[in-house]
Amino acid sequence: MSEDIYKTEQIAPDTYRIDEAGAVNCYLLLGKKKALLIDTGLGIGCLREEAEKLTNLPLEVVLTHAHCDHAGGIGWFDHYYVHKSDTAPVYKLLSSYLAASILLPKGIKLPQKPLRPKAVPIDSSFSFDLGERIIHVKNVPGHTKGSIVLLDSKEKQMFTGDDINESLWMQLPGCTTLRQWLTGGRTLLALAREYTPWCGHGPGKQSVEQMRATFELAEKLSEGKNAFFPHTVFYPGKESVPQIVFNEARRH
Ligand SMILES: [Zn+2]
Ligand SMILES: [Zn+2]
Repeated sequence: MSEDIYKTEQIAPDTYRIDEAGAVNCYLLLGKKKALLIDTGLGIGCLREEAEKLTNLPLEVVLTHAHCDHAGGIGWFDHYYVHKSDTAPVYKLLSSYLAASILLPKGIKLPQKPLRPKAVPIDSSFSFDLGERIIHVKNVPGHTKGSIVLLDSKEKQMFTGDDINESLWMQLPGCTTLRQWLTGGRTLLALAREYTPWCGHGPGKQSVEQMRATFELAEKLSEGKNAFFPHTVFYPGKESVPQIVFNEARRH
């Protein structure tokens, strides 16, 4: 079953993108001693099996943030790392089976996972030593307060989760204001000079032009006034790429 769900592509030496049902990207990074799985998808198939086809090194699992389309496969593992800010109750709800069932493609049921994994909280001082390959954690609040970017010092890749992509979601409970996101957006743009950016959805690879366009949209939006009657807005439009989906009450 998992064959139809996952598509794997090598994106750099010892680095793979695992696409789950065209809906979300996970990434697998191999070192000499360990492998690091970045995000676990909605949990439609058995991601552990898929990762073990690519490596027999011991696996560590980290989430870019605690939303259900990234945390859905954690039940295949006994522990996972997540930023300490994303262990708050609002994210527990957003990472739940209930939240996933809204996002799931029609007719798909999530399989039962065997484990109840332990969340290991981390912050920006944390890094993963995979053996001759260090992956640094950087907290970039925005899409969630505990969103992290993973910086691969060896292959010069960075994994940004949903903190910047062609449809930047800033409308959910637990998102920061747009103005707070801009601080992180500036950091991401600076990092993209040194690291190749990969995100959590679509084809994965992001162009710096698109990142810059998203940043400029957020800048423009943050200049406006907060709405008295907040509602969700697609900016500049529902069909535009890139776009920002945001809540009018949270510009500043
Ligand atoms: Zn998300
Ligand atoms: Zn996502």
